[in-house]
Amino acid sequence: MANRVVVLGAGFGGLELATVLSEALGDDVAVTLIDKNDAFVFGYSKLDVMFGRTSMDAVRLPYRDIAKPGVRFLQETITSIDPEARVVVTDDGVHEADYLVVALGADYDLGATPGLAEGGNEFYSTAGAERLAGLLPGFTEGRALVGVCGAPFKCPPAPSEAALLLHDDLVTRGVREDCEITFVIPFGSPVPPSQETSRALVAAFAERNIEFVPGRRVSSLDPERRVAVLDDGSKLPYDLFLGVPKHRAPDVVIACGMTEDGYVPVSSRTLETRFPGVYAVGDVATVGVPKAGVFAEGAARVVAASLVARLRNVGPPDAYDGLGSCYIEFGAGRVGRVDVDFLSGPKPTGTYHEPSIALAEEKHEFGSSRGARWFGR
Ligand SMILES: Cc1cc2nc3c(=O)[nH]c(=O)nc-3n(C[C@H](O)[C@H](O)[C@H](O)COP(=O)(O)OP(=O)(O)OC[C@H]3O[C@@H](n4cnc5c(N)ncnc54)[C@H](O)[C@@H]3O)c2cc1C
Repeated sequence: MANRVVVLGAGFGGLELATVLSEALGDDVAVTLIDKNDAFVFGYSKLDVMFGRTSMDAVRLPYRDIAKPGVRFLQETITSIDPEARVVVTDDGVHEADYLVVALGADYDLGATPGLAEGGNEFYSTAGAERLAGLLPGFTEGRALVGVCGAPFKCPPAPSEAALLLHDDLVTRGVREDCEITFVIPFGSPVPPSQETSRALVAAFAERNIEFVPGRRVSSLDPERRVAVLDDGSKLPYDLFLGVPKHRAPDVVIACGMTEDGYVPVSSRTLETRFPGVYAVGDVATVGVPKAGVFAEGAARVVAASLVARLRNVGPPDAYDGLGSCYIEFGAGRVGRVDVDFLSGPKPTGTYHEPSIALAEEKHEFGSSRGARWFGR
């Protein structure tokens, strides 16, 4: 039976895919789940680490805890992918697949923003978030700039959250009066699919005296003079830069010829690539939805359902719906939520839920339920 499923990347997409396949098929499937890291970290945990609310050790979910019928995890680095032959080479071997799922996420391209690597700080990687956790307590006066260096980027609300949580951090340390916060984002509003959510965030910035600069991207930094240059040539001085780097598909995906305009094109209904038996889910793919874990997870469920249908010889499942809910930290322990629908209508829509302690608890439950499902915690 053609049942060898090789899943590249054990992030939101890969973990959900392996879990659903194991639940549905058990030992009737042979899933090989490959990741170069030894642990998974939720994207939003990076904000918690950066603001000293937890440590990286406390939020790491080690892959060695995965114990699922039909699934084996391998910690290996993928060095080449042949999508026609469905053969993957890693630093430790060669894997042949009947079905191949690329779920390798998006990487950061620090080199695309001159000066960022030398003179800025990014908070999108685990290393960047940990470095900022060490630096932030020493920032007691001056200009902080939260700046996005390119779109698309993961979790569109995350830089807004960073600006609001920075405000809280400075208030708690008693230095807010001595600091300025500016926030630069390439979109015209903080969360474009939901005007209501965007209005609430813009109001929250105004209440906290955070200067909001929409429709602009940070194109370079001058680390010596501590000046950020925006894409219209205007300049913003800073003492502390908190950046979202430009994203791109991992090099190994670009090198294998699967990408167009930087990412892997797929059918937005089935997540199939143009290569038979090869799917792509999550941030690495162009689906028409934002780069966020909830969308990677939803897409993975559709791929899992079609693989189950193929292996069980039944009809195809429903198409991917492009629905997802994103939690937004507003500070002071309160979390809002936006429920977005990207694919069902002519344009994306979003429904806003005001920040509350109850939604903060719901966000906590979102994380712990994934910890339980994926890692048996
Ligand atoms: C600050 C921040 C906050 C966020 N908040 C949220 C949120 O609240 N809600 C939400 O839904 N999303 C959030 N996100 C976004 C979310 O983390 C990503 O969109 C999500 O992880 C994408 O899932 P994925 O499976 O596509 O890729 P990933 O989860 O990135 O997984 C890709 C995996 O591939 C592996 N990999 C890459 N290259 C190789 C290679 N060559 N060999 C082997 N392995 C490789 C990586 O190690 C990684 O584990 C946030 C992100 C950030 C940075």
